[in-house]
Formats: sequence, C-alpha cells, structure tokens
Amino acid sequence: MTEVADQFTEERAGEIARISHWIDGKRVEGASGRSGPVYNPALGVQTGEVDFASVEEVDAAVQAAKRAFESWRSFSLSRRTELFFRIRQLVHDHAEDIARLLTLEHGKVLSDAKGEVARGLEVIEFCCGIPELLKGGYSEQASTGIDVYSIRQPLGVVAGITPFNFPAMVPMWMWAPAIACGNAFVLKPSEKDPSASAFTAELLKEAGLPDGVFNVVHGDKVAVDAVLEHPDIAAVSFVGSTPIARYVYETATAKGKRVQALGGAKNHMIVLPDADIDMAADAAVSAGYGSAGERCMAVSMLVAVGHAADDLVAAIQERLPKVVVGDGMSPDSEMGPLVTREHRDKVASYIEKGAAEGAKVITDGRESAPDNGGFFLGATLLDEVTPEMDVYKDEIFGPVLGITRVDSYEEAVGLVNENPYGNGVALFTRDGGVARQFQFDVKAGMVGVNVPIPVPVAYYSFGGWKSSLFGDLHIYGPEGIQFYTRGKVVTSRWPDPATSKVDLGFPQTR
Ligand code: NAD
Repeated sequence: MTEVADQFTEERAGEIARISHWIDGKRVEGASGRSGPVYNPALGVQTGEVDFASVEEVDAAVQAAKRAFESWRSFSLSRRTELFFRIRQLVHDHAEDIARLLTLEHGKVLSDAKGEVARGLEVIEFCCGIPELLKGGYSEQASTGIDVYSIRQPLGVVAGITPFNFPAMVPMWMWAPAIACGNAFVLKPSEKDPSASAFTAELLKEAGLPDGVFNVVHGDKVAVDAVLEHPDIAAVSFVGSTPIARYVYETATAKGKRVQALGGAKNHMIVLPDADIDMAADAAVSAGYGSAGERCMAVSMLVAVGHAADDLVAAIQERLPKVVVGDGMSPDSEMGPLVTREHRDKVASYIEKGAAEGAKVITDGRESAPDNGGFFLGATLLDEVTPEMDVYKDEIFGPVLGITRVDSYEEAVGLVNENPYGNGVALFTRDGGVARQFQFDVKAGMVGVNVPIPVPVAYYSFGGWKSSLFGDLHIYGPEGIQFYTRGKVVTSRWPDPATSKVDLGFPQTR
C-alpha cells in the first residue's frame, strides 16, 4: 500500500491527512503556511488538509522538471514505450484504489469513479503507441541530392491545471501525452480533491519514471498564477470553468506560452417527436444526474420538440424517485453528494431561482436528499424553462435538469448554436437523415446521435467550441500529441565537396 492510500485505511479513519507536494521524485511538505481543507462530502466532515504552494515552491517544481527534461527527452522511444506499459499496468492494478480516493474526496459513486479511471487509462494506452504517434514524414530527392524530413520534438517543461470533477482522468489527459512526447510535467490539481494526484505521483515513481519528470504542486490562485507567469514553462493545459479558462488563456499566451484552456458547458439534448421516449428518458436521467451532474459533458438542458415534451417529462418524472442517492462507497448508491457544502447550496438555490423565474418545479431534489450532514441534493427536474432564465443560461453543475419546449428542429438547433458554450450536444431521433443534417448544422465540438455523453475515445481528441475552449488544439488523442510537440523540418544533402561553389541565388528546388 502506498503512503497516500494508507491515509484512508480504517485504522486511520478520523485523522486529518496532510496532502503535500511532489517535487523531484519525493513528497515535499509545504512551507508556505497556507493550506486548505479536503472533505468527505458524503459525511460532510473534513478528512484532509492540503498544502498550498507559494511562488517559490512552484519554482522548485519547475526547476526539478527543467533538470530532468534534457535526459528524459533523450530516452529512446522504445524505453519510453516500455515505461508506459509499466505505468499502464500499475494504474490498471490500482484502479480500485484510485477510484476509492475519488469517491472519498469527490463524492461520486464508486462504480462511476471506476469508470473515470478506465477512461483515463485509455489515454495512457494510447500513449503506449508513442513511437507511431511521433513518426514524421520523409521526402527523398526533394531536390537533386536533397532529402527533406519532418520531426516533432518536446516543448520542455509543461504544466497542467485541473478541475475537481475528474481528479484522476483529466490529469491523465495531460500528463500521459505530455510525458510520452518527452516533456517534463508540473501538475496543479484541484485543491478540493488532491489525493488522486499524490497517489499518481507514487505510482509513476514505482513504474520507474525518472525523478523530476512528473511533479505535483497543490494550491489555489497563488500557485496557478506562479505557473502562468513562470518563464521556464513552455505550455499550459487547463480544464475548469469558463471565466478561469479565459483568464488562464489570456495570461499565459501574453507570456508567450502555448495554451489549451477548456472551459465550462451547457450541454443540450434535443429529443425529436419521432424518438423512442423511454430510451430518451433513460439517457436523460443517466446523463443529467450521473456524478450528481458534476460533469462538463452532463446533459443540463433537454430540448423537447413538439409533442415529445409531455411524454418525456412524464417518463423522467417516473424514473427520478428510483434514483438511489447516498454515500458513494455504498454499492447501492447511484448518485453521490456534491463536492462541497457551498457548491451544494449554490446548486440548490437554482431551484428557488428557477421557480421565481417562472419554471415549473416537477421534482424538487431538496425533498429527497439524505439528511446526514453530507452535501447531498436529490435529482431535480424543472419544466418550461426558457432561454432568458438564469437556470437556462448558467452552468449549474449539479443534479438540476431543465426542459425547454420548442416547436421545431430548426428552433432546437438555433438554441444550441446561439448558446455561448459549445462543448457537447446530443440528438435523439429515429431519422437518419435529420441526424446527418444535425451533425452538419450544429455548433459544438462533440456531438452525440442517440448518445447522451459523447466523450471521444482516446484516439480522437476532446474539446468544445466557443466559450468551452480557448486555444486551437483539443486535448488528448492526435491533437494532444500536436499540442505537446513542436515541428521541425530538416533539409539535408551530402554532396561531393569538390562540387561546392558560392551561389548567392535563392535556393531552388529543381
Ligand atoms: P475551476 O475553474 O473553479 O477550477 C479549475 C482550476 O483552476 C483548479 O485547479 C483551481 O484551483 C483553479 N482556480 C480556481 N479559481 C482560480 C482563480 N481565480 N485563479 C486561478 N486559478 C483558479 O473549476 P472547478 O470548479 O474545479 O471545475 C468545474 C468546472 O470545470 C466546470 O465549469 C466544468 O464544466 C469545467 N470542466 C470542463 C471540462 C472540459 O473538458 N471542458 C472538463 C471538466 C470540467
């Protein structure tokens, strides 16, 4: 058992665990004097205290990464591959341990946490093919006696800043391709559920990753700003809310860094009148309330077209009392608590707000939430939501599903296309022609046809449009490899020195 997993053993239950940084291959206790609480949201009690890094501590991590980079980038592709297979095996073997950490700090139910680890593992598996992914092009005899080839090289020290809602998978989206490409990495995970990152650091060391290639600094805005300002960090990947994504993008690009900053979402699921209503209702409940709605790909608005609406509302309403809300460690629970009390209260306030704005509260999750001190809110359904309402406009990020009613397909697509976010979208229909037109028309980065949560598989890339992504390249998959490398084109010849002469003309290719 590793040090991090050990913090959660039964013998130590009730103790407040200290979660520290990981710099140059070892655990480093924070010295800034600043720290933050970590909770078990299902019980509503503090279980940990995480160190918050100072500017100097972030710098120490960057310097360790900088020292490690030159030798790491020289590791042959076959050695990197071998190492990634070991990492893959260790993460696979410890999937349950990681999932437990996620449930204990984030609150999502254990089965969902295992799903998170499995989807992250897919990205690691993709990275096991790094020699193929880094292959360049070669043109023999591009000009007479001249060959041209392209290579991709790592950027140097790169950083990742991650959100609370996927404490294992989103870091894997970043560190796995970054390291496989030959970069050294500094991770600043969410301060709300930091243990999965501390655990990952131990696993990577056990796999044989050289010290300094992977570092973790915990913290808040101070640590983030230190990353954004640091002259030795070449690129920043960010996943989180839209205001912070915009801030990270603007600040770090102004410092000359390459940035991909993925933001928030308001994902619509359109249900056409010809859709199978039971299938659509099952999908809406699964995608709206899974992980208590704390997914950037959660469905938060249902757009019911024409006569689909009444049947859809009835079918969802019938399913909600059967959703088991409880501690994620219990095998019966289907939906866990929200991450913090503040967030739970903010989400709950939207029920009141929606009612005041004129929405119809069909199911009020405050009435079905377990009352044990945990940060619970039951599944909530609001009907007759309209686009001017805050419950429509805001990313609520909780188990509150809204339904808006429209008359036509065109009106439904118009709503999606006018929305400032463009992360995921789904269409439920039995008409293949309309579905094909939809994928052509719709302005969003990830589209599901009868699939409510269209998170791309690891060999495609993940990313939204509009205010859901700042930057040009999506995350993981082929675009992730592009993001973490820089192209170089080599033009070479090996002429007989006897043929050499001075020629001031511009080089021509014939
Ligand atoms: P957040 O923006 O509050 O935090 C993300 C990261 O930014 C954290 O590491 C946090 O410490 C840091 N941060 C927070 N406030 C900051 C500030 N003022 N200055 C500098 N750094 C700051 O997001 P969150 O609440 O942790 O996560 C939920 C959000 O993430 C939702 O909006 C969700 O849609 C989004 N998200 C998006 C995706 C995606 O792929 N597009 C994936 C997961 C989550």
